[in-house]
Amino acid sequence: MRKIKTKGIIIAENNMGDFDKMLTMLTPGLGKINCAAKGARKTRSFLLGSTQFLCFGDYLLYGGNGSYNINSCETIEMFYDIRTDLDKLRYAVHITKIINDITTENQNSYKILQLFLNTLYVITYRDVNLDFLLSIFKIKLLSTIGYRPIIDKCANCKKTCELNYFSIFYNGFLCSECSNIDKSKIQINDNIKIAIKYIIDSDSKKIYSFDIPNEDKKILEIIATLYFNQKLEKEYKLEDLF
Ligand SMILES: [Zn+2]
Repeated sequence: MRKIKTKGIIIAENNMGDFDKMLTMLTPGLGKINCAAKGARKTRSFLLGSTQFLCFGDYLLYGGNGSYNINSCETIEMFYDIRTDLDKLRYAVHITKIINDITTENQNSYKILQLFLNTLYVITYRDVNLDFLLSIFKIKLLSTIGYRPIIDKCANCKKTCELNYFSIFYNGFLCSECSNIDKSKIQINDNIKIAIKYIIDSDSKKIYSFDIPNEDKKILEIIATLYFNQKLEKEYKLEDLF
């Protein structure tokens, strides 16, 4: 059996037998993997904390080819404050479900993991508008996984001025002249244009450090929701936890 040291975060956990757990972990190099944690539910197990949902740490694994066992873990961050705030937990669970959906084994997941961790840090340690955070997360995630919208020119005629609309159907900005080609286009002002460009072009550590007026947040949320659901071909809805 191969010995592997990797950073990872637990994105799903299921009980197995009386004392064991089957975990889903997102790692930078191995992608999303399933790991068994033997004895992790015994009260004295040294794996008790480090095999919990959203625990991020340095893991020592044995195995390979889709079958791994956790040997030990040095915890880096537990995101404890998310667990004690139901609203934060609800958004964190939703974001984690999305991450679980879009990742696979043997996929280089470094950038996705970086975005996911930065998002969890902001949810945990900052007092932010969580709907706004979710919109930013969705736009950044889409551009990270290959659905970067066209934002430097009109997606139809390539003109670079009067880009006053966002089109889900044409994958990006549309100029005023071309706006008639898409009946469901969304009108955007300079704040929203700059926000979308900033989210896409900035390092994921910086994307949550700007603000726009509340009415613009609403429009950004509509764009993020529609574009996200269309590209991933799924109706993602924030669900109640209980
Ligand atoms: Zn145009």
